[in-house]
Amino acid sequence: MHAWLDDLNIPYKTNEPLAPLTWYKVGGAAQVLAEPSSVQQLTALASQCHTADVPTRVLGLGANLLVADQGVDGVVVRLSDPAFRQVRIEGTTVVAGGGFELAKLVLTTARAGLAGLECLAGIPASVGGAIRMNAGGVFGDIGQAVKRVMVADATGQVYYRDRDDLEFSYRRTNIVARYILSVQFDLSPDDPKALIRRVKEIFLYKKNTQPLREGSAGCAFKNPDQPDPQGRRLSAGQWIDKASLKNFAIGGARVSDRHANFIITDRGCTAGDVITLINHVQKTVADRFGVALEREVVEWP
Ligand SMILES: Cc1cc2nc3c(=O)[nH]c(=O)nc-3n(C[C@H](O)[C@H](O)[C@H](O)COP(=O)(O)OP(=O)(O)OC[C@H]3O[C@@H](n4cnc5c(N)ncnc54)[C@H](O)[C@@H]3O)c2cc1C
Repeated sequence: MHAWLDDLNIPYKTNEPLAPLTWYKVGGAAQVLAEPSSVQQLTALASQCHTADVPTRVLGLGANLLVADQGVDGVVVRLSDPAFRQVRIEGTTVVAGGGFELAKLVLTTARAGLAGLECLAGIPASVGGAIRMNAGGVFGDIGQAVKRVMVADATGQVYYRDRDDLEFSYRRTNIVARYILSVQFDLSPDDPKALIRRVKEIFLYKKNTQPLREGSAGCAFKNPDQPDPQGRRLSAGQWIDKASLKNFAIGGARVSDRHANFIITDRGCTAGDVITLINHVQKTVADRFGVALEREVVEWP
């Protein structure tokens, strides 16, 4: 693999630890971490990996990712080059690269007096990762503002997906292409001061209800559809709390006492601790209430 990686002239590292690049701060290394400098380099890399049957994965900001302690084989691609971190505003249309930070995009668009993304304040993500997960919450999600997405599939073919054939639902999209390269948003004009106020309000709401400073991947589980015996729909965090699991720990992994759907990684934590705790939470909630919690966190491999 190294020979053709060298031929492609793409910056890459071997046996590169992924823990520092994720919010959990646990897990092993990538066999190869590649950071292409252009769409052409990325598509050449994708095509070569496809031909050589080398697995590829895309790393965003690592805010929803659990990397196993043994690490991952193949190539992890990171869109960290400025080529993938551009943002362009034309009227109410905003085009952002897949590697651009969502937090910066939220602020940039609010300051420009463009409404539609302020609901995403306080969500750590790259634009590509936010699209893949349809990031959002009680105030709205990213999908509602998307007009067009530029993607590349695992073979390196580049194409566009347009609004009318895109579907976004709770933490999912129908985009199956491996690489989300850039996203076009359709926003609406609004008062910049009011938008900035709204961004601050939403950020404060998140800060007051979620442990944003500790190692975590946000919500570990999706909110289940299943109602409680009174017919109310409880969130995953409420079911976990009902099972008295707040603060429950296995090794260095612990259920947050502020938000029971957050699993916190303390010093010395391993990915194995997180997986064992996730399994324990799922089993306890299923045994006690008959509720199946589905994982929201993406696990590698
Ligand atoms: C403190 C905290 C709070 C959070 N709060 C929220 C919240 O309120 N709402 C919410 O929805 N989420 C929340 N999350 C989870 C996380 O922010 C989102 O899931 C976010 O969308 C992850 O984006 P990322 O770039 O970090 O993706 P990563 O974690 O790096 O990757 C997640 C998935 O996206 C894929 N991916 C990443 N980039 C690309 C790309 N360019 N092309 C194709 N696929 C890609 C990866 O392969 C992987 O499958 C929170 C996380 C933390 C740590």
